[in-house]
Amino acid sequence: MTAQTQNVPEIELNNGVAIPQFGFGVFQIPPEDTAEAVRTALEAGYRHLDTAQLYDNEQGVGQGIRQSGLPREEIFVTTKLANDAQGHDNAITALEGSLQRLGLEQVDLYLIHWPLPHQDKYVRTWQGFEELLHAGKTRAIGVSNFQIAHLERLAEESGTVPAVNQIELHPALQQAELREYHRAHGIVTEAWSPLAQGEVLEEQVLTELAGKFGKTAAQVVLRWHLQIGNVVFPKSKTPDRIRENIDVFDFELSDEDIDAIGRLDAGHRTGFDPDTFRG
Ligand code: NAD
Repeated sequence: MTAQTQNVPEIELNNGVAIPQFGFGVFQIPPEDTAEAVRTALEAGYRHLDTAQLYDNEQGVGQGIRQSGLPREEIFVTTKLANDAQGHDNAITALEGSLQRLGLEQVDLYLIHWPLPHQDKYVRTWQGFEELLHAGKTRAIGVSNFQIAHLERLAEESGTVPAVNQIELHPALQQAELREYHRAHGIVTEAWSPLAQGEVLEEQVLTELAGKFGKTAAQVVLRWHLQIGNVVFPKSKTPDRIRENIDVFDFELSDEDIDAIGRLDAGHRTGFDPDTFRG
């Protein structure tokens, strides 16, 4: 076990399963490069991997895990249901496909990737997810890109509160309202595009804080996420950056530093709007 692995805190999900607060995202890593990137991340101490059926690289994630030689139970693996596979039966079949590509018996967390309200299938999909949980195909179930109205509907029409909601969240889009809703309902906030895909890293507040701590702006942003309670999984293909991103456990932002980053909120999305995205 590397020092960084021990540094990463775990957060308890609402069904008692523990999730490492820091992980590695593989969106946009080409299938042929994924096993190597995953191996590098695992060597650097990451123990949480975030993939999706849509990323087309679940096979590489599975290969990277096997090549690392690490015991399966030491790695937390999330995958997500593709948008064209919503519905009760489809969701069940789709996870079988993901497990086959990953070469795993079970994932740790399975997410509905987008609510797609125009399809009006996410409640039936969620009922399929509840069955998958009870069958042991996944240790926890959650959602991604759900707005409060979508979470409220699940609360009214199902008996399982999502363990997490994975949403776009970074200094330029801080999502105060959703984070507060999550806190009040025991849903863990996962922040996707935690670095806004690099877009925010030139902000003066961040470069100044980076100078003050002798860290990079990316490390300051990732530290901010951890201190405000988000789960993060930045993506990089570059080995030095993969190691840099997890090296955020030797400094601490003050309340004033956190407030200063708070003022960067601009309601700026880099990705799709969940209310209108159609898959
Ligand atoms: P990110 O914010 O992690 O940014 C990644 C990009 O930032 C890299 O491609 C690189 O250009 C840059 N970068 C990374 N490390 C850096 C460093 N140390 N210094 C400077 N630049 C650096 O964005 P992302 O990949 O979109 O999001 C991370 C993960 O979130 C994804 O891999 C995926 O797992 C998840 N995600 C989920 C959804 C969803 O709909 N659920 C959508 C997007 C992403």
